[in-house]
Amino acid sequence: MILLPCPWCGPRDASEFGHVGESSPRPDPAAASPAQWRSYLYLRANTCGWVAETWYHRLGCRRFIKVERHTETNETRESRQPRLQPAADAGGPAQQARAASG
Ligand SMILES: [Zn+2]
Repeated sequence: MILLPCPWCGPRDASEFGHVGESSPRPDPAAASPAQWRSYLYLRANTCGWVAETWYHRLGCRRFIKVERHTETNETRESRQPRLQPAADAGGPAQQARAASG
């Protein structure tokens, strides 16, 4: 049995969640090559050890969470709300337009 620590609901059985997959940083859409996009979309490291994953609490709060889980022991050590897209919180088009206009 895997217990996942939902930041909103507390520890819950993994059967309440949908496993979205291994988290990896999204490349810049304007600068990424097709090979980088293919790697981002389809290739996973499949590490034996600690990995950052995204889970969806489908039978609870219905939110996405990030969990650090050990793939061999299923021990978890951290969970949190996923970070927003980089364009929305740091230097995205909206901030760049605001900075350029004043
Ligand atoms: Zn929850």
